[in-house]
Amino acid sequence: GHHFNAELVKKDFPILRETVNGKPLVWFDNAATTQKPQSVIDRIAYFYEHENSNIHRAAHELAARASDAYEAAREKVKAFLNASSVNEIVFVRGATEGINLVASTWGEQNLNSGDEIIVSNLEHHANIVPWKRLADKKGLKLRVIPVDDDGQILLDEYAKLLNSKTRLVAFTQVSNALGTVTPAKKIVEMAHAAGAKVLIDGAQSVSHMKVDVQHLNPDWLVFSGHKLFGPTGIGALYGKEDLLNEMQPYQSGGNMIQDVTFEEIKYHKAPNRFEAGTGNIADAIGLGAAIDYVTKLGIEAIGQYEHYLLEYATRLLKEISGVRLIGTAKDKASVLSFNLQGYSNDQVGQALNKEGVAVRTGHHCAQPILRRMGVETTVRPSLAFYNTTQDVDTFIKTLWELKKVKF
Ligand code: PMP
Repeated sequence: GHHFNAELVKKDFPILRETVNGKPLVWFDNAATTQKPQSVIDRIAYFYEHENSNIHRAAHELAARASDAYEAAREKVKAFLNASSVNEIVFVRGATEGINLVASTWGEQNLNSGDEIIVSNLEHHANIVPWKRLADKKGLKLRVIPVDDDGQILLDEYAKLLNSKTRLVAFTQVSNALGTVTPAKKIVEMAHAAGAKVLIDGAQSVSHMKVDVQHLNPDWLVFSGHKLFGPTGIGALYGKEDLLNEMQPYQSGGNMIQDVTFEEIKYHKAPNRFEAGTGNIADAIGLGAAIDYVTKLGIEAIGQYEHYLLEYATRLLKEISGVRLIGTAKDKASVLSFNLQGYSNDQVGQALNKEGVAVRTGHHCAQPILRRMGVETTVRPSLAFYNTTQDVDTFIKTLWELKKVKF
């Protein structure tokens, strides 16, 4: 059971009052990006109306306001992930930049020919391409944890891949293409037992479940603000403090140095050493407001409600013969991926759009896992806490109408 009033919560999101083709918008593209509550929109406007300044460098009042708000947002990310210190939270553009940062700093510094990196078959391209490029450049071996036919990671096969040459395991906590929730804590433990470092891609998990970095114990974890009801262009890289301080800077310039002469440069410690130049101050503060919003609703309550909604949608989808559900792991969050017999995915997407229902069709930047499941593309509705059973009904009804035309 759940005690969550999605109808009420929906009112906090102005865009959900939009109509599309004369129908109320049903936003089922949450895995691509989430909508923003009024409080986030207001917070960003407030920054530009009352606080806008560059941070850190000036003695004046607005610099102090902007700096305080920016560092308060870092504190909110720290609390949200249960990190031990604000020094472990680096603001980045999003999950993609966080992963690239680790690949170009720690990876460049520490990985050498013959070393091995493990990723899973479920990964988004953002957690494949940076590692593949590094592997090609340095002569590393990229190994892949296979999944079963339901789309869940095979832990026994993973165990066989780990060895003394394994330096890094990088994997997603929730698959954006199938919705699989991976056994993250176990994967981390096994990697550490083999002496490897671990990066968790939290892009699809932080909005659906409690993510506690002290409990999960990864070396790094990345997520994007825009998938957490916050703005685009901002996200966070969590890293263990000592490890971050051993990593060379990613970009360099202002803000990240302690002292510069033409002979020698001293860098700041983390997180400043990774925040060269003027960052996305307003959107970091907006992300802080998004975290406040989610925290007020309660991430556990959100997870419970979404679980109920996903089960409801899955049950109704399964009743439609001709639907092939792709990704049937026992532990799933938010995502339904499917094909409808007799229709291309684009046709299904367009039919849904006609009814105001926004879903993604395509390969979802996760081609390897879709190919593993025997398809090139899928239709992918993805749910969030502001979706209702009525939204699901509208979606299901449209599929039944399509089915009637063909069969
Ligand atoms: N990893 C996963 C699992 C994702 O779903 C996404 C976004 N689709 C990313 C990484 C990349 O996130 P961003 O585009 O916000 O950097």
